[in-house]
Amino acid sequence: MNSTSFDLDPSYHILVTGGAGFIGSNLCEFLLNNGNSVTCLDNFATGKRENIAPLSSNSRFSLIEGDIRDLDTCQQACKDVDYVLHQAALGSVPRSINDPITSNDVNVSGFLNMLVAARDAKVKRFVYAASSSTYGDSKNMPKIEDIIGKPLSPYAITKYVNELYADIFNNTYGLETVGLRYFNVFGRKQDPNGAYAAVIPKFVLQLMEHTSPVINGDGSFSRDFTYIDNVIQMNIKAIVTDNKEAVNTVYNVAFGERTDLNQLVALLKEFLSEFDAKIADVNAKYGPTRQGDVPHSLASIDKAKKLLGYDPQFDIQKGLKQAVRWYWENLK
Ligand code: NAD
Repeated sequence: MNSTSFDLDPSYHILVTGGAGFIGSNLCEFLLNNGNSVTCLDNFATGKRENIAPLSSNSRFSLIEGDIRDLDTCQQACKDVDYVLHQAALGSVPRSINDPITSNDVNVSGFLNMLVAARDAKVKRFVYAASSSTYGDSKNMPKIEDIIGKPLSPYAITKYVNELYADIFNNTYGLETVGLRYFNVFGRKQDPNGAYAAVIPKFVLQLMEHTSPVINGDGSFSRDFTYIDNVIQMNIKAIVTDNKEAVNTVYNVAFGERTDLNQLVALLKEFLSEFDAKIADVNAKYGPTRQGDVPHSLASIDKAKKLLGYDPQFDIQKGLKQAVRWYWENLK
């Protein structure tokens, strides 16, 4: 990605919480390439040391191994920081159904600690990972930021509470915030392993092993799959904007197209069979639908385009080709 296209001042010191995770480590890498100083705060709950290993030799990179559930740690991490990109959270709807208390502790109490620390350190802006799950049972399509439904999982509640707290911190203490409602992000470094793996890396790994991916439901459920470089662009745009109307609000972060799971598997097979022709013969299996899953998800990205000049460069096909190549080169 062309770093100069976003005009991010390289003198800024940026804190990336969850910086060892999928999205966070990609943000750290981008910022270091742009010339910024980067502090990563992570407790490695789901993040990986290998995600940040190539960054650790950079003198502008520092790691704080710690937990956002600890206020002192958050305050230490916010010291001399210009901007916060808050990514640390426990993702996954099923994880939050299995263990709502831990998801709430990290995603709500940890988030509140980070807001307090950012406010006390007088950071310039607090940009945070919100979620498309906040649309809950809303039938509206495409999803527009102002119309949300009732949350369908503990995870969705935590992410909505984040937005409410961010709003209060702006109104009460004047902390500038921007919430980014990510829609099914995918790309390099996303973990394909474990019970809570996201669908794209999980299916890629299974297809590479010639194992049938299991689709929950009949494959007609659809998502607005969003490539990581579009997400990086939105984070940077949220930092650099000087449009007063564009801050203290939330944005959909997506491409603005939806793909159903049957189409997804077909694309993955097509792109992966360029590396291994046998993958074309591996077929998906079908299982029961998952609790808390919304049937369809499609974003309007008009608000981000209008207020932030968002211009996503990767549709699902272009993104999947890059992601599949990365998995092939790094997992084989
Ligand atoms: P990830 O699990 O790869 O990254 C999360 C990071 O946060 C990990 O490195 C983890 O170790 C760290 N972390 C967790 N608990 C922590 C704690 N108590 N203290 C410090 N660090 C902690 O997940 P991701 O996909 O990179 O997600 C990043 C953010 O984006 C999360 O807030 C997630 O809810 C949000 N999000 C992601 C998606 C997606 O499709 N990936 C969609 C919507 C929202």
